[in-house]
Amino acid sequence: MTQPGGATARARERASRRAAMLGPAKLVEPAHRGPDGAPWLGPGQVYVTRTGVAFHRTWCAAVASRWAALPSSLLVTTEDAVGLRHPCSDCATA
Ligand SMILES: [Zn+2]
Repeated sequence: MTQPGGATARARERASRRAAMLGPAKLVEPAHRGPDGAPWLGPGQVYVTRTGVAFHRTWCAAVASRWAALPSSLLVTTEDAVGLRHPCSDCATA
């Protein structure tokens, strides 16, 4: 049995270690913003989150739900700066 507090602390630590490993995605300004402030991608731009292991080339369901839940956590970077992130399985096939 792990203590709830300890597990949370470990999860947080793991998340920040993973973020460090993924590399500080070089954030860029999105090419445009939609009427609701949502970032729209320009050529070569992708959506990422700080600790997410996937990157997104389109406004897929994962991006939409992230934007709905926590808009400030949705980041835009360039595809050559995604580090170890892999293409999202949702929008890689789109
Ligand atoms: Zn996606």
